Amino acid sequence: MAFIEISKDNYQHNIELLTKKAGGKDRLMVVLKDNAYGHGLEIMAKLSCGFGIKRAAVKTLEEAKKINFLFEEVLILADHPSCELQDSSISFAVHSLEGLKKFPQKSSLHVNIDSGMHRNGIKEDEIQEAFKIIMKNNLNLKGMFTHFRSADELSSELYWQNKNFNRAKAKAKELILKYSLPMPKFHSCNSASLLRRNSCLEDDFARCGIATYGYTHVHKSFGQFDLKPVMSLWAEKLSTRSLKKGDRVGYGGMYELKCDGDVSTYDIGYGDGFFRHNGLSELLLEGRSVCGRVSMDSLSFLGDENKICLFKDAHYLAEKFNTITYDVISKLSPSIGKVVV
Ligand SMILES: *Cc1c(COP(=O)(O)O)cnc(C)c1O
Repeated sequence: MAFIEISKDNYQHNIELLTKKAGGKDRLMVVLKDNAYGHGLEIMAKLSCGFGIKRAAVKTLEEAKKINFLFEEVLILADHPSCELQDSSISFAVHSLEGLKKFPQKSSLHVNIDSGMHRNGIKEDEIQEAFKIIMKNNLNLKGMFTHFRSADELSSELYWQNKNFNRAKAKAKELILKYSLPMPKFHSCNSASLLRRNSCLEDDFARCGIATYGYTHVHKSFGQFDLKPVMSLWAEKLSTRSLKKGDRVGYGGMYELKCDGDVSTYDIGYGDGFFRHNGLSELLLEGRSVCGRVSMDSLSFLGDENKICLFKDAHYLAEKFNTITYDVISKLSPSIGKVVV
């Protein structure tokens, strides 16, 4: 069976690098959404908990319920309001005033402030209204946050958005004091902004996903970061056949043998979240060329090895298929087995 190898040492290395920048283990929220970017939700939750991390973020309530016993708080980033009261360790991100009104009393919430990305979140001039709803409905405001749209790009937009967030924060703090509400946690940095700014400065913690898994797309001019990829992807042999020069392999017969030799087929394909390479160009994986097209459940290579590594670093595939490392790793099927080494 195809499997993903998780390097515990590399994960620990990245977490330590990031906690140092954030200013401590209680100032880093690990982002475990989308099956921990393909690495396995429960595995990465247990590892990060073992390294002393207290906060995690996921996409859905279903994900949160699987791991909240390991953390002080699990923040749900992108699910719909729940009409049932959840455990107090589970918090929801709130993306609009309308959404805020749907939560039952005592729900733990983090209100998202739109500081310029215009994807989700309430506007600065809606903060007062938000506090009124929070008080009227007896909601538990645990945090206020924003998300940056261009932290990894070579532009000053990060500073513009940060200024907007700081202004919203000041306004919120004023109202919190006025209404004698408990002070929520403020947070804004993702991986790119934490790496780029080297701290999460005025915030209470940073929310990091991609860098914990060993990648960054921060523009080179902001520095080189010693991150180590956590995942490597492997496939196992299904069968081998000896073929003659001129024989062609796979759909469309896209690969033609240049001399007699063995061709083996391995148990991963685009149905497992790997790329459907069309065979028109060379796809070189850890030094080996894929023979022709990738099928839904398999792909072929010259030779007869029992297992082969498809990647140890997702950058090459991201570049080859004109995408980003996030896309390569998070699309891998959750059903691929995981081995922690
Ligand atoms: C996914 C996500 C993050 C993590 O971003 P990375 O770039 O992977 O560090 C942080 N905050 C929010 C709101 C997100 O959706």
